[in-house]
Amino acid sequence: MLNTVAHNMSVLRDKDTVEGMYIDGEWKVSASNNKREVINPATNEVIGSVTEGTIEEVNQAVIAAKDAFYKNGWKSTYARTRADYLLQIASKLEERKDEIAMLETLNNGKIYDDSITDVEDAINQFQYYAGLATKPHGQTYEVPDEIQAMVIREPIGVVAIIVPWNYPLVMAAQKMSAALAAGCTVVVKPSTQTPLTLIRLFEIIDEVGLPNGVANLVHGSGSVVGNELINHPDVEKISFTGGTSTGKQIMKDAANTLKKVGLELGGKSPNIVFADADFETAVDYALLGIFAGQGQVCSAGSRLLLEKSIYDKFVPELVSRAKKIKLGPGWDDTTEMGPLISISHMENVLNYVEIGKEEGAELLCGGKQVTEGDLAKGNFVEPTIFTNTTPDMRIVQEEIFGPVLVIQVFETEEEAIELANGTDFGLAAAVFTNDGAKAQRVIRRLQAGITWINTYHPTFNEAPWSGYKQSGLGGDLGTYGFEEYLYKKQVNIALEVKPSGFYKG
Ligand code: NDP
Repeated sequence: MLNTVAHNMSVLRDKDTVEGMYIDGEWKVSASNNKREVINPATNEVIGSVTEGTIEEVNQAVIAAKDAFYKNGWKSTYARTRADYLLQIASKLEERKDEIAMLETLNNGKIYDDSITDVEDAINQFQYYAGLATKPHGQTYEVPDEIQAMVIREPIGVVAIIVPWNYPLVMAAQKMSAALAAGCTVVVKPSTQTPLTLIRLFEIIDEVGLPNGVANLVHGSGSVVGNELINHPDVEKISFTGGTSTGKQIMKDAANTLKKVGLELGGKSPNIVFADADFETAVDYALLGIFAGQGQVCSAGSRLLLEKSIYDKFVPELVSRAKKIKLGPGWDDTTEMGPLISISHMENVLNYVEIGKEEGAELLCGGKQVTEGDLAKGNFVEPTIFTNTTPDMRIVQEEIFGPVLVIQVFETEEEAIELANGTDFGLAAAVFTNDGAKAQRVIRRLQAGITWINTYHPTFNEAPWSGYKQSGLGGDLGTYGFEEYLYKKQVNIALEVKPSGFYKG
């Protein structure tokens, strides 16, 4: 692994380079010349700049995608042709894996090994959906003899893909790979904070010669560029990952043109540890569940539900290990936790710490920005744990999206389930116990789309990713994620061509 800053910085472009948008097969610097700087959250230094699109340029991207879909025939390309493009994208990502991973680390702050995992996930997504594109999708069904009835699938059309900053490459890749494999065309809008790795992905798309307009990249804020995509009459589906309040707004706005919407939203996920769980494993995953990615993970185990009888043993061990987590920049191979994405997000997280104290929760560790040494330049917040919480507290109910764990205590299985389900969210949940029947029993009653028994965080591109309750609508990944981009059309064929005879004349 690379561990010198000088070497890491070599993946960045010259500081005078202004990165453009990719519209209809051409790189384009916005006519507005509206530049936005991109920041490294470990140092708060400028590492690049992009030009943000105007409404007219978003319109050009949508029209290019529409023409590529309807006029230029992407929707009816042979599935094998689409699969070939996706496989070429995957292999070029593989060739540039280290460069793109380091760029993700510099832009998002995540540790380098996590960025490598993200790029590998993206590669696998393009490969997986390349495979799925060529597999049979149709069905026939049993009806009276004189009719042959079947279902065929057809791509929906132009898809707007809007993604957040916590997994900039992989969230876009999982949506793009499925949509393109299905025969849709796409316009992608990254977060204003993390556009850089998607620019590299679009360089690859350009190199493999994907037909013009099939995949377009636009930059700009959610309120201007995002909003235009949501309201554009020629966008037929929105595939969005981001916060729950943004998701609600998008759903309202999309109603005007009755767009299909797929929403992957926030969470406040419970990690339930029963007294009979393997102690070491449960402590380890309680830490990983919340502190991986600095807690900026939608499925983070941000609520630890602990059986009362092990509280006195578990909590001191948890806190002592949390205090030892090594903070640092993602490119340093000894770092265990990186910075938060921005100063303003860090301030939000620290504000929640104050809210927790005011609400009467007890702060066991952390709760502060690192203000000494090299890390003082970046957005580093110490691993933070609260106890003595009540279910109505804001720190228990709201997504903080940072390294802040809240402990809730239970005495019975029933109480654990009630606490676990006691928020508006329903993204993920985990159960730690050595009692197999109890594990299954509890999992079946948890309102969450992604669950684990005796582990936390592993998920796979083959399996669907979707939230219950206010954590989302529709889903990504697996065969279900592919179906999101396809209409189902029933076709009924008369086996004998003759009048119905209904109107006697
Ligand atoms: P936001 O909802 O703030 O933003 C997500 C994206 O939407 C950004 O590109 C943003 O643009 C854009 N956007 C904002 N407002 C609008 C609008 N009105 N119309 C159209 N687009 C808009 O989320 P964050 O970027 O802060 O990401 C963190 C959130 O994402 C967390 O809540 C997290 O839980 C969730 N998430 C969910 C996942 C899941 O799979 N369920 C996975 C990963 C994250 P801009 O650049 O201007 O902000």
